[in-house]
Amino acid sequence: MKSILVTGGAGFIGSQFVRQTIAAQLAKVIVLDSLTYAGNLGNLEEVADSALLHFYRGDIADGGLVAGLLLKHQCDAVIHFAAETHVDRSIRRPGKFVQTNVVGTCSLLDAALHHYQSMDEVERRLFRFLHVSTDEVYGQLGESGQFSETSCYAPSSPYAASKASSDHFVRAYFKTYGFPSLITNCSNNYGPFQNVEKLIPSTISKAIRGEALPVYGTGKNVRDWLHVEDHCRALLMVLESGRVGETYSIGGDSELANIDVVRQICAHLDKTIGVPDKSFSDLIRYVDDRPGHDFRYAINHSKITSELGWRPKIEFHSGIARTVDWYVQNNGLATQSGSSP
Ligand code: NAD
Repeated sequence: MKSILVTGGAGFIGSQFVRQTIAAQLAKVIVLDSLTYAGNLGNLEEVADSALLHFYRGDIADGGLVAGLLLKHQCDAVIHFAAETHVDRSIRRPGKFVQTNVVGTCSLLDAALHHYQSMDEVERRLFRFLHVSTDEVYGQLGESGQFSETSCYAPSSPYAASKASSDHFVRAYFKTYGFPSLITNCSNNYGPFQNVEKLIPSTISKAIRGEALPVYGTGKNVRDWLHVEDHCRALLMVLESGRVGETYSIGGDSELANIDVVRQICAHLDKTIGVPDKSFSDLIRYVDDRPGHDFRYAINHSKITSELGWRPKIEFHSGIARTVDWYVQNNGLATQSGSSP
């Protein structure tokens, strides 16, 4: 059985990956998470009693800690989710994004490289480092076109710039040291356990409380939404069968303007918990646009589809209905305010 170091495993996507991996008994999972405001141990409650889960609170930039964990658990894979991830926060305070996403990633790479170099030949052949990144590194699209593995890097926000930088370091470690790394660039995820500052959970929690639903600018900015379960299924496939040194684009075939996402959420709430003659969409308010707000993202995922047979399975209409129901039932998870895709 594999032994995987999962950084950021108490966050939104990382915890889904941990729950999915343990539920399928695929690997021993060593979670390293510093539990920032975005990390929540409750996200791992479902698997807390599993003998396959080992949790450590700590920073990816702590080279000694990472080296110790890799050695102690004889890790043969690292999947790197840990990051500062909220674009609005990166606009207000970019320094933290440089520290975690760039410096932290470099430190993690160093520790993992030394671990890799200490392995015997058979172990080295099996070792993998998977860096989980975003389509935001490519900047914005106009009305047409899609990002793919060959798109040029042109990040707009400090968050995107920090992720772009980390991608470059991961690729450089492959080219310079032959370190067996892979990169995935994925579109916007949705699903349960996401921090409430992000667009979908924020809209649902505010709607339930009867608060205004802020939508940036004209609401026409487009994102390609992917259910987090589909994303984690893709990550497991890349870890298992992806070619080292390669990048894989992952997307949901589900382009939607932000305003349409908010309207779908409102329509589902109207149907499930609404009252006659009122609609949750009456709460929608357009607010000043985010500075540097990318207009559109869309992903061409034909490489991972043709090489590994992955494609998204959860259609947005049913996925968002399930997601809204989950947040309604878990209202207590909503603790912060804000909204951004
Ligand atoms: P998240 O903000 O929900 O979780 C991040 C996790 O990392 C938290 O648990 C946090 O405590 C932990 N963390 C932060 N700094 C740390 C540090 N220095 N050391 C250890 N742990 C630390 O993020 P998410 O939405 O789950 O995203 C996970 C990864 O996926 C990120 O790298 C992000 O760039 C990438 N990604 C996210 C999306 C998306 O739509 N959410 C899309 C594509 C790619």
